[in-house]
Amino acid sequence: MGLDQIRKRIAAAEALAGRAPGDVTLIAVSKVQPPARVEAVLAAGQRVFGENYVQEAAGKWPAWREAFAGVDLHMIGPLQSNKLKLALDLFDAIHTLDRPSLAQKLARAVQARGASPQLFVQVNTGAEPQKAGILPDDADGFIAECRGLDLPLVGLMCIPPEDQDPVPHFRELRGIAARNGLRGLSMGMSADFERAIAEGATHIRVGSAIFGARDYG
Ligand SMILES: *Cc1c(COP(=O)(O)O)cnc(C)c1O
Repeated sequence: MGLDQIRKRIAAAEALAGRAPGDVTLIAVSKVQPPARVEAVLAAGQRVFGENYVQEAAGKWPAWREAFAGVDLHMIGPLQSNKLKLALDLFDAIHTLDRPSLAQKLARAVQARGASPQLFVQVNTGAEPQKAGILPDDADGFIAECRGLDLPLVGLMCIPPEDQDPVPHFRELRGIAARNGLRGLSMGMSADFERAIAEGATHIRVGSAIFGARDYG
């Protein structure tokens, strides 16, 4: 598909939703992709990227940050507490704040540094047992707890169940964000980003539609 096509489709979806051009931030999800593909997308001017694995990101991005000014790196995978320090060295945003123990450790680390990445709370809108995230019923309480810890929340993130219409999940996320005064909505992937934009996404996370299929082999 490629970056140009995706940019055009984002612009069309923004216009259709009556939103300003550039309202939606495209996060190019580069996990597991061959370096040459990522470098081509960097060369085409894309600067916002998403990664799922701290160790993998640590091996790739310091050099690319040197070579390409203005990289904005987002953590979108589950974050283990023992990788927190490394993650804070690497990432400008974390979309997977998903449990009280992580919030507490993050608060201590952020205070010691005097700086925090932008933070999104991951909500498990489908209440799927195998998936990370705060359950919708617990979201208001968890958001309040994070604010009590002085964590700078910018929004919410969700990954809808694969076998369901994502739109009700996008709407639920938007509702939780609205009643908690949060503007950021990280939702929408290769298969559904246009619907996410229609439902108010501010950040879409698109991997395979830009880079091609991932080869985990
Ligand atoms: C891998 C991943 C994406 C990108 O998925 P595509 O279907 O390739 O666009 C988006 N969000 C999260 C959380 C992911 O893990």
